[in-house]
Amino acid sequence: MPERYAVIGNPVAHSRSPWIHAEFARATGEDIEYSRIEAPLDGFERAVREFHAAGGRGLNVTLPFKGAAFSLCESMSARAKKARVVNTLILDQGFGDNTDGVGLLRDLTDHLGVELAGKAVLLLGAGGAAQGVVGALLEARVGRLVVANRTEQKAHALAALYPGMSARGLSALGGEEFDIAINATSAGLAGAAPALPAGVLRKGVLAYDMVYGRETPFLAAARKAGARTSDGLGMLVEQAAESFFLWRDVRPQTRPVLEKLRRELGGG
Ligand code: NAP
Repeated sequence: MPERYAVIGNPVAHSRSPWIHAEFARATGEDIEYSRIEAPLDGFERAVREFHAAGGRGLNVTLPFKGAAFSLCESMSARAKKARVVNTLILDQGFGDNTDGVGLLRDLTDHLGVELAGKAVLLLGAGGAAQGVVGALLEARVGRLVVANRTEQKAHALAALYPGMSARGLSALGGEEFDIAINATSAGLAGAAPALPAGVLRKGVLAYDMVYGRETPFLAAARKAGARTSDGLGMLVEQAAESFFLWRDVRPQTRPVLEKLRRELGGG
């Protein structure tokens, strides 16, 4: 009998996680079944308990439940405790972790060949995704980390959790230069972009959008300004691989899965 895993979110129909984990399982010979669960907005905890009671072993948690997953855990990794958001649950242990940070880092360093140490990094957004990656960026010894969010107060709240980073409203970014601009907002899903002052996106900058499988307005503007661009597909595959490793103690190869997924999505 395959052991059961799933991604839980709302909405979740678009999630590529079942496809990715099926590829990992095939490549490693692990006998797992991985599905999607769309939990009602007020029914996350009940849906988790029902899945566990029915034999479910682990969950990936996506928007908007990462904070709720954090509250549900009996124990968790140090990185999840710090971030206060959880994207991976090991149900029998009541254990939570967050693999978004390591996923982003591995995409930037292993797939995109970026050296993070000493770099000036702008993180756009202060939601669950931004919260999940700050610790990893700081551990990679970036030179400067600034979080900017449409609702400025949320950027300050996030920066307050992490000494070593500063916060701004989006409009206060004028005149500052960055080496890497990471869009961790969900604006691209709605065909929008965070409103950035001119000059933030320019030649020499890497503009990275966590939204994947499409050229978002943020990436289009960056490309027009001469910046290097990347979507978040590599992060998606890498955070999934780290979850798979946590559940199965087997580390799948990511590059072939990323290349195949890119072809499936029509990106070459
Ligand atoms: P979230 O908790 O709902 O936060 C959304 C963030 O986007 C908030 O900071 C919000 O600002 C900002 N935002 C939304 N629309 C905006 C707009 N038009 N202009 C400026 N800012 C806007 O969502 P999340 O969990 O952080 O996820 C964010 C995105 O990352 C999603 O698209 C998700 O799919 C993606 N993601 C990708 C990966 C990956 O592996 N590639 C992993 C995790 C997440 P306010 O605070 O002002 O509302």
